[in-house]
This record gives sequence, structure tokens and C-alpha cells, in this order.
Amino acid sequence: MDIFTHVVAGGLAGGCAALMIRGATARVAAACSWGALGGFLPDIDAATRVPGFDASIGRWLQLQPGELIYAGGEWYSHHHFTHSLVAALGAALVVAGLLGLERAVLGAGYDRARTVRVLVAPSALLAGYLLHLVGDLVTPASVWGGVQLLWPLDTMVGGWGWAWWFNNYDLFLVQLAGLAGLGLVSLVPRTRPVLARALPASLLALVLLVCSALLQLREHDYAYRGHAPDYWALEEASLDEQRRILPPELYELMIGFDAAMPLPF
Ligand SMILES: [Zn+2]
Repeated sequence: MDIFTHVVAGGLAGGCAALMIRGATARVAAACSWGALGGFLPDIDAATRVPGFDASIGRWLQLQPGELIYAGGEWYSHHHFTHSLVAALGAALVVAGLLGLERAVLGAGYDRARTVRVLVAPSALLAGYLLHLVGDLVTPASVWGGVQLLWPLDTMVGGWGWAWWFNNYDLFLVQLAGLAGLGLVSLVPRTRPVLARALPASLLALVLLVCSALLQLREHDYAYRGHAPDYWALEEASLDEQRRILPPELYELMIGFDAAMPLPF
């Protein structure tokens, strides 16, 4: 799935996680940023595909050619280590360590409030990271056979092909609407602690439910292994589905937005 959808979904998951942990006292914008970072991080393994990689980092680390590494089966290839639960937990632990969680927990005099405060950022990052992994399960198996969710086990998970790699405009829009809804949810007063925690949980569940329903609306099967000889036909089929699912004006708006994006969307 494209990086924009992953980042928006991560932001939503991060904000919801923060509100669920700290209620109405959560700093939602900061948590959304941590969640968005979590939504971005797994695809750091696509860096080997960036123009100039072979001549710079690839040469320095003797990782060449980047395009083959990207599509390969190394632990640092796309959809491998960084797309695992271990990496998700590791990234959250690194953030927790950097923010001083161990001091909050083990330092002089355990302070529950401080511990909870410090927990928010790694939890938001973790939520965004995990939602990225879920999002990738529904894309095609392609050359990887899924994602190496259970690293260091070799088993590849997902690759179901329920959605195409790109132009899942409907999912993006639902998650964007979820982010807007989160803005409203975060206005719940501090005097309503139960509501402040229950609403973001319900909002996240609703967004996931609607996204699942939209995936069911897809009539095309995008499941393929290895290289797809009809890659561009599948791309066209996914655009046709967006044209069918979205109102015409919204579809045209998203096509324009897609064209303006510097990365595949
Ligand atoms: Zn990914």
C-alpha cells in the first residue's frame, strides 16, 4: 500500500492510542505525529530503491544493486525485517528508552503519572507501525510472498491481494475522515474520562470496519506471486474500481491529488 495511506492511518492509530491511554489529557497532535512516524518506518526498507542509493549508501555498505535487494529475500529486503512484530516492538522500545521510560519506571520513586505520560509516544508509534503491517497484509504476495511478520521465522504472512498496491483512494479518504473525527473526539472535556477513552476506540474500530467493507467491494482479484505479467492491467482495474466506488467529483479530485504527489499514491 502507498506510503501516504500508511502515514495517515498511522497518525489516526497513534492519536487514538494516546486518547485511550491518557483520556482527554492526551496531546493528540504529538501522538498523531508519533503514529505517523510508526506508519512510515516499515517502508524504510524501500530505501534501496531510491535513485542514488547504489552510488552512495549502497556502495558504502556494499549493498548492491539496490533494486535487486529491494525485491530479494535478505533480512533487509522489502517486506522482511522491518515488516515484523519484532521490529515494531523494537522501534517502540527505542523510543521509550530515548524518552526515559526506564527512569520513569525504575528511577527514584516510581511515578505512575510520569510513566503513563512517557508510555504515550512509544504506544502511538507502535499503533501506527502495527496498522502499517495490517495494511500490507491485504496487498499482493508479489516476489516476497507476503510480509515476514514473524521474523526471525521465514514464514511470509499475507499477500492476500484484496487490494492493489496503489490508488486505494477510498481507504485513504476513510482514514483521513477518521483523523478529522479524531480532532472532534479530542474535544471531549476532561470531566468525561470514560467517554474520552471510549470514543477514540470506537472511532478506530469504525474506520477499520469501513475499510474492511470497502475491501469487500473490490470485484477484482489482485493476488499474484512473483512478477505480474499483467501489472498495468491490474493497475487499470484498480482505477476502474475507484471510479465505481467514489462519486465522480471525488474520483477526479483524487486523480488530481495523485498526479500532484511526488511518490506513487
Ligand atoms: Zn510496507
